[in-house]
Order: sequence, then structure tokens, then C-alpha cells
Amino acid sequence: LRDIVTEHSHLPAETQDGQRISLHLNLGLDVTHDYLKTLNIDGVGLYRSEIPFMMRDQLPTEDEQTEMYQEVLDQFPDQPVVMRTLDVGGDKPLPYFPLKEDNPFLGWRGIRLTLDHPEIFLIQIRAMLRASIGKSNLRILLPMITSTSEVDEASRLIKQAYFEVAEEQGCEVGVNLFQPQLGVMIEVPAAIYQLPAMASKVDFFSVGSNDLTQYLLAVDRNNRRVASLYDAYHPAVLASLDEIARRCEEIGKPVSVCGELAGDPGGALLLVAMGYRQLSMNSYNVDRVRWILRNVRSSTLNVMLAKALQARNPDQIRKMIAEKMESIG
Ligand code: PEP
Ligand code: MG
Repeated sequence: LRDIVTEHSHLPAETQDGQRISLHLNLGLDVTHDYLKTLNIDGVGLYRSEIPFMMRDQLPTEDEQTEMYQEVLDQFPDQPVVMRTLDVGGDKPLPYFPLKEDNPFLGWRGIRLTLDHPEIFLIQIRAMLRASIGKSNLRILLPMITSTSEVDEASRLIKQAYFEVAEEQGCEVGVNLFQPQLGVMIEVPAAIYQLPAMASKVDFFSVGSNDLTQYLLAVDRNNRRVASLYDAYHPAVLASLDEIARRCEEIGKPVSVCGELAGDPGGALLLVAMGYRQLSMNSYNVDRVRWILRNVRSSTLNVMLAKALQARNPDQIRKMIAEKMESIG
């Protein structure tokens, strides 16, 4: 099967009836591996900037961060690179930043923490902007957004950093320093109901199906006792993903999915049926997802999705997907 899959790797991710899907990469640690250059992808959909922070014993300086981000932007010079701002807290502790909470997943996480520490946020944004001088591929993504006020506050800081960097580095705004497109992660259920309110404030949305599953089902994604309840194939999760796709279509904003579901071939089929046209995943899933997409017709996916949305439990949905996979071969 591996050979059949890799035979397709140079071809576009396109369904048999010509629906083109953009495949993007999720990146964390190994950003400069040569293997990544060989992948036929459309860009980086999620650079988890917290990973290098977690590997150190103190906060990286602005210069160190600038260098880190430059490496990533240079690796994909002609493609968009979505850099997510620091998403620590929850299951991602920083060894040098005390975070002890009773309910860390409901606590000081992602944008909540960085907006309370604007100096950390500003240094990170300044470093991203400095790394982007002379390039136009940087996009910035905000994690754990719950309210529009967080988007406003983050935008204000990003603007401040932008003009500071432009002046300090002697850049010409819009010539060699571009204002990066701004996106928001949809991973807290409340954000689904804020989509229209956020539409005028951002350029794109990216669905974090890992956290969305956790928060919709009220199941800690790392607690083994309830692991069997954590399931992105839960009909409620699929219904909300479907709803997000519809709402984004209505408000005319691009939306991608960057949680694990997008890199799961069965999940990718359901997401494409819902209308998602951008999927972001780990490197080892790219060709598997491409292969499955190249072997289906959108119309048959719509039938499968309609049935999945009527299902009573995740097992029924898994069975449906398994049958579909079997019919493909
Ligand atoms: C998500 O929540 O789906 C996501 C992509 O972010 P992370 O897994 O890093 O929380
Ligand atoms: Mg998340």
C-alpha cells in the first residue's frame, strides 16, 4: 500500500470529480528536515511555536526567536506559513514558568496567558515580523480565542509591534515588511457563535479539532480514565464541524482544519464532504490523505456525511468509514 500511496505523492490532492483540496503541514520540532522539502504540500497550516519554548530552560530571546522563525519561513519561501502564537498552559507546561492550576485546560492557556503577559506576546510577534522582512509568507494564528475582545487586544499589540519593527529596522511598510494575515483558532466552542462577530477582524479561521473535541465533550484529552470518551467521531463533534464550515462559507472567510482529524484519512473525507478545502496535518499523513482524496467522488462523500450526521454513536460512523475505505480498496 505504501508504494501505491507514494506513487501519487507528486500529484495534486484532487477528488475524482475535480475538487482540489489544499494540504498543509503541521510543524513543531523538526522544521528543517530535508524530508519536508520533498513533500508536495501547499504550505504550513500550523507551526506550533510553543514546542521550541518547551525544549529550553528559559524563554528564548527576541533574537533567538527571530532566528528560529526565519528558519521556518525560509524553508517554505513561496508558500504561506501559519505561525501560531505561544499556546502554553493546559497540557503544555514551560519548565521555567510556574503554572499550577486545578483545571489547567480551563485555565491560563494560550492567548489568555500571553495577553496577561504582553511583553512575552510582543517579543514573539516582533520576532516573527523581523523574521519576515523581505518575505510575504508569514501568517499569524491566535490560539484559545473565546471572545472578540481578545482578538481586538491581540490585533492592537500586533499593530504596535509591526510599526515598531518597521521603524527600528528601517523597513518600508508594504514594500519589504508586510502586515501578516491574522487568523483565529476555532477550538473553544464559544468561538463558533462568535464567527460573524470576528469575521471583520480576521483574515482566516483554523479549526483545532483536538481541543474542540475536548471542550465540546467535556473530556480531558490526556486523561486515560476517560480516553474512550474522547472521540472526534462523536456525532456532536461532527455536527459542530459541519456548522463551522457552513458559517464560514456564509461569512466568506477561508477556514482550515489543523487538528488530528484532518490527517486521518476517514476524518479528511468527512471534512471535505462538509466543505473544508484546506487540511493541515503531520508530515506522515500527507500522502495517505492525498491518496484517499484522489480515490473518491465528492457526491459519494455527501451521502456518507449525511448518514454520519444521523448516526447515534462514533462506532456507527467508524463502520461507515471503514466500508467506504474498503470500497475504495
Ligand atoms: C487543536 O487543538 O486541534 C490543535 C491543532 O492545537 P493543539 O493540538 O496544539 O492544541
Ligand atoms: Mg488546540
